[in-house]
Amino acid sequence: MKRILEELSTLRGSRPRILLCDDQPINIRLANALLKGDYDIYMAGSGQQALDLCERILPDLILMDVNMPGLNGYETCERLKQNTATLGIPVIFLTGLKSEEDEVKGFDVGGVDFISKPINGTVLKARVLTHLTLKLQSDFYRNIAVTDSLTGLFNRRKFDSELAEKWELCKRSSQAISLLMIDIDYFKNYNDHYGHQAGDRCLAQVAQAIRSNFNRSYDCVARYGGEEFACILPMAGSEQALKLAQDISLSVAQLELPHLKSEVGAHVTLSIGVATVDSPGAACSPASLVELADRHLYVAKARGRAQVCTETEASARHDVPA
Ligand SMILES: [Mg+2]
Repeated sequence: MKRILEELSTLRGSRPRILLCDDQPINIRLANALLKGDYDIYMAGSGQQALDLCERILPDLILMDVNMPGLNGYETCERLKQNTATLGIPVIFLTGLKSEEDEVKGFDVGGVDFISKPINGTVLKARVLTHLTLKLQSDFYRNIAVTDSLTGLFNRRKFDSELAEKWELCKRSSQAISLLMIDIDYFKNYNDHYGHQAGDRCLAQVAQAIRSNFNRSYDCVARYGGEEFACILPMAGSEQALKLAQDISLSVAQLELPHLKSEVGAHVTLSIGVATVDSPGAACSPASLVELADRHLYVAKARGRAQVCTETEASARHDVPA
């Protein structure tokens, strides 16, 4: 079990994080002494402190005292489970009580296990190892399920769920939402000329260049299909979206990836369609935002590619190359 956890930690690139929450400093010190050799330890002296800390550090596991002044362990756990950001963090209760009723209550509020006080070091270490392994395994598989393996961007499935989620978010807060649809120009020619392995490398480099322009945690950058990428920009109006599209084009131009079979230049270029809905509501849908961005992308292609298009021009919609 220990080796599996070590492998998962290595893959992730960071040691597991454990939050110790107890109103008695002596209990925290004891657990810390047992665990600090293998894990990164954070400490909270109250339920409220634990809640505040959790949002910031997103621990992989919480060891939670039950009896605390203010919010007790059960109440704190209930709140963690109401928050989408923290609901996946497993909580183990540390308690001297442990009647059947208490145990049921602990599972009811979302706990995964109990450890009796006074703490037995071997039992504590074994339970912690088990639950951390399960947590990191589940993170690992969830990650695979939403990631495009070639580019490391989100995949189409994740794009669809993110769009629905971010649409609702912007609708509730009456804010604009924008979408970029991005296509690599003459990519079929690229593959035919340079071969599919070079094509894959090109896709990965372009993906990296696109992603380098994003630093807001709630933006979503995905591989939409073949050589198409899509970026969801919640709470971004048309000007911001246009600026970002231009920056993305520039980043890819600066890669100077040779493309002998492009008809618009010597290097790999992008066509980008930008669409914005200022107030997401009943009159439109996430699908209509995709459709609009798609239409603008086709206009960008029809106008000669290697450009950004934000508005539809009916006349330009004819003779769009595939
Ligand atoms: Mg206590």
